[in-house]
Amino acid sequence: MRRHWLIGGLSLLCLAGIWGGFAWHQHRLAATATQPQATRTTQHDQATTNRAAAKPTTTTWHHLKHPLKLPILMYHSLSTGNQLRVPPAQFAREMAYLKRHHYRTLSAAEAVRALTTNSVPARHVVWITLDDAYRDNLTAGLPILQRDHLHATINVITGFTHKSNHLTLAQMTKMATTNRVDFASHTVQHLDLDELSTSQQRRELSASKTWLDTHLHQQTQVLCYPAGRANATTRRLARQAGYKVALTTNEGVAQLSQGRYNLARLRVTPGMSTATFATLLAVTNS
Ligand SMILES: [Zn+2]
Repeated sequence: MRRHWLIGGLSLLCLAGIWGGFAWHQHRLAATATQPQATRTTQHDQATTNRAAAKPTTTTWHHLKHPLKLPILMYHSLSTGNQLRVPPAQFAREMAYLKRHHYRTLSAAEAVRALTTNSVPARHVVWITLDDAYRDNLTAGLPILQRDHLHATINVITGFTHKSNHLTLAQMTKMATTNRVDFASHTVQHLDLDELSTSQQRRELSASKTWLDTHLHQQTQVLCYPAGRANATTRRLARQAGYKVALTTNEGVAQLSQGRYNLARLRVTPGMSTATFATLLAVTNS
């Protein structure tokens, strides 16, 4: 009997050692894998870079025993003026927090992989999303992401790319080469999808995906519903259009049990303290 306990105890120690080694290894990988890559200039190379960014890295992924809880942060404009806008200084403090606490900020492709395979490339993961593709995501956001070697996904309204306060295609193409951001669909016209006819919805979902796929040389996997508005038809059409997951504005940590096309996010509000920000992210995965 005593021998059984001894064997059991040794096994537990082994498991703890393996997990500790994994965490340490991931920490090291996170520190090295996020180094910025050399800027490339030709279109061919940009396409290659985008594909490389979308691909999982050589990082070891760890399968979880329990369903993944993924904090998905929701930002919009990085400026001041209303409850949707977060000042750049606050964004900088929050990104510094993530860096300091060794968070692995997922790309869109990595987030899809994490959710659909219930696995993670590091112990602490978070997915940063910025809706509407405001130009300040480039001028204020990108330098901070580059400073801290973090990654974010920008949800683009593809019919707004000619507007003065939104990112142009040229700006998005250039941003993608940094490997600090990638781009997902926020439809063509930012309409409330649940109030549109089926054919109108289908067009909003498909045309935006085609635009992103064609112009940014990617396979767009993520859809973000404008104002979080979606109904059962929207979710069915999102799947048919080829999206792998879709994001809402429902408040909470994302879990696959919410539905692949109905994932919750965590709204970051202006004036939020870093302590509150920290509690939003505080989930334990095992
Ligand atoms: Zn929006």
